[in-house]
Amino acid sequence: WKNAPPSLRALIDASRGHGDRLMTIYEDERISYDANHRATAALAAHLSNLGVGKGDRVALAMRNLPEWPVAFFAIVSMGAIAVPLNAWWTGEELAYGLRDSGARVLIADGERHHRLGEHYSDLPELEQALVSRATTPLEGNAGRLEAVIGTPHDWARLPSAELPEAAIEPGDGAALFYTSGTTGAPKGALLTHRNLCTNILSGAYNSARSFLRRGEGIPAPSPRVVLTVIPLFHVTACSAGMMPAIAAGNTVIFMRRWDTVRAMEIIERERVNITGGVPTIAWQLIEHPDRARYDLSSLEAIAYGGAPSAPELAQRIYAEFGALPGNGWGMTETCATVTGHAGEDYLARPTSCGPAVPVADLQIRADDGTTVLPPGTVGELWARGPMIAAGYWRRPEASAETFVDGWVRTGDLARLDEEGFCFIVDRAKDMVIRGGENIYSIEVENVLYAHPAVTDCAVIGLPHRSWGEEPAAVVHLAPGETASEAELQAFVAARLAAFKVPVAICFVTDTLPRNANGKIMKKDLKALFADRVEAAA
Ligand code: ATP
Ligand code: MG
Repeated sequence: WKNAPPSLRALIDASRGHGDRLMTIYEDERISYDANHRATAALAAHLSNLGVGKGDRVALAMRNLPEWPVAFFAIVSMGAIAVPLNAWWTGEELAYGLRDSGARVLIADGERHHRLGEHYSDLPELEQALVSRATTPLEGNAGRLEAVIGTPHDWARLPSAELPEAAIEPGDGAALFYTSGTTGAPKGALLTHRNLCTNILSGAYNSARSFLRRGEGIPAPSPRVVLTVIPLFHVTACSAGMMPAIAAGNTVIFMRRWDTVRAMEIIERERVNITGGVPTIAWQLIEHPDRARYDLSSLEAIAYGGAPSAPELAQRIYAEFGALPGNGWGMTETCATVTGHAGEDYLARPTSCGPAVPVADLQIRADDGTTVLPPGTVGELWARGPMIAAGYWRRPEASAETFVDGWVRTGDLARLDEEGFCFIVDRAKDMVIRGGENIYSIEVENVLYAHPAVTDCAVIGLPHRSWGEEPAAVVHLAPGETASEAELQAFVAARLAAFKVPVAICFVTDTLPRNANGKIMKKDLKALFADRVEAAA
């Protein structure tokens, strides 16, 4: 293959070199690197014929299917900007993403296409939709993706072709990913080729570190088998999960939806080496009552990030699977990975999310946004490096607030230790301020997690007339376990100052509401305490 410009295109061109090695597996579809490249080249040629060129937005709305990387690769290889939309969104939310990004073309699966239905009529910039796996007639002027590239079973028989010519610079936009919407409306972050390439290198660096057991070195190199269970429309799954795996020539398995038993069957059958994504996945594997019936001995690493995790999770992963735990901190605005924590380092410091990757700087700053605080002090985390997004898409004011002099202001409260290990203390928006005293919700949650009956919990602030706010907790107990409100309050009181003890605890039988990225939607939890809030008002 010929020399590629310095961009993701280099990775995509080079991926052909893995030939017959399996790149993606989805149910009974097994796609080689070569077949994936044939489909990518065919789709890129089609997009180019439609007039898509550099800087144009092409949206992607589908569950984790083999068509996802084909579409992503085709779009970014021609210098266009891929816009992965949240597949959980309603028709109206998908339409918002299409309008906000100004996408000219949409590549969707049948489900998302039909969900958009009547909204198509209100999308003047959208010229064309290409739909895969539609089981009913298509709406509007949509065409079938299969008419362009066939089904995944056909890809190996497509002609082998070069990608269309494109002049791409490292600073050019490659993808527009939306934030998770945990604290407000999702914002589109424009990620460049440099951002995504940096993340691939960070992923390789972190995974090598995760296998460093003292004196043992790293296990046999590629190919490894990776089970990717979180949705690719989150930057973590795409750029920290799938892309480094593909750069290494690994095999990536997709699941239709997360299901613990199905995941264990796949791990046994395909001899999966690496999985994870978010902490919840690891807990569900650990706690499943039928786990002993499956051979999970191929697992080497379970890595996650994107959400706070209970400190004992690292040790449990090591003890239960003999696999090495990994954790990383990042945000959509940093194209995922900024810190990485793995292996023995992580086992020794289970409350940290690790040190910065070698190309990133971290600082803890005071509220004024300029004073840099010394190690050990809690303040707002700021980050800088080649992974920081170019800005928010079409939001100059929000961009100016968040992206300052090459740094990103994260909105997370953290401290760094003398060695540079980072400890996330809370999101600034989740901190509860009771009569001027800060209560970090994660600190209280970690104590609750340490109670043997608690498997899931969230601490939130309730409005209080004189204190301003006071802490309350929502707790989910392990099946068959019992614990009363008073017992849990006493458990926290024995470990933390009295003002940090939740004044009310609400027990829920369902798991807590999480978004696709494993984060608890705290803004939805206050309603559980409506009686109390009204009484206080
Ligand atoms: P929005 O910005 O729309 O409210 P969001 O911040 O949840 O949503 P993401 O960009 O997906 O959207 O998530 C980034 C946030 O996730 C970080 O700011 C941090 O609060 C949290 N996070 C990421 N990694 C970790 C980690 N390893 N430990 C604790 N928290 C983490
Ligand atoms: Mg955010």
